[in-house]
Amino acid sequence: MRLIVMGPPGVGKGSLASNLTKHYNIPHISTGAMFREEIQKASPVGKLVQAQINAGKFVNDSLTNDIVRERLLAKDVKNGFLLDGYPRNLRQAEDFEHILMQYGWKVDFVIYLDSNENILLKRITGRRVCKKCGETYHIENHKPQVDGICDKCGSPLVQREDDTVEITKRRLVIYHEQTQPIIDFYKARKNFLCIDGNGTIEEVTERVINKLEGIK
Ligand code: AMP
Repeated sequence: MRLIVMGPPGVGKGSLASNLTKHYNIPHISTGAMFREEIQKASPVGKLVQAQINAGKFVNDSLTNDIVRERLLAKDVKNGFLLDGYPRNLRQAEDFEHILMQYGWKVDFVIYLDSNENILLKRITGRRVCKKCGETYHIENHKPQVDGICDKCGSPLVQREDDTVEITKRRLVIYHEQTQPIIDFYKARKNFLCIDGNGTIEEVTERVINKLEGIK
């Protein structure tokens, strides 16, 4: 199964992706998580992208396409993959078409999660992520069993630097300018699914799986 999960920042792409990848036993490929990992390692790529990410801006397209192309060469993608946060603008969507063609693959479904902006702001500013494994939580809707500690790996939970109100508002503006147009790019296709992203993670996951299984 090859999936793309799209939607505005804070809509719950990461949590949905985490559930779907477990369900379908495919790797979760998040460009944001890959960049954060590079930043944490203080690698040359990390140093290059840190300022843009912390300011809520996009990383440059060719660097982003390159890390996706390379990630898709790994063995674990043989049963498929779930892309989260990529493609993020028209240029990336077009380049990704070439990557798919080059690898002889087709995407099974493009899942677009929709939600209203006030909910998004609340979700993002209350989001906490595990410093080590990247698992996401929320201070109200998805609390860890022990306050401030990741259920999965026991590491501390932190707030992402780009999850403040001010930077989130900027990310939403960039999303509307750059990412919204690719919804139209995919909308015309049969494999495009628009899903209501409101509700708990479990409800949204069930909604998506029902839709995927119903169509399959
Ligand atoms: P995310 O974890 O998907 O919210 O991404 C966090 C940040 O990483 C974004 O605000 C961008 O700065 C950067 N980023 C992630 N994916 C992309 C992408 N496909 N293109 C450009 N920048 C990206």
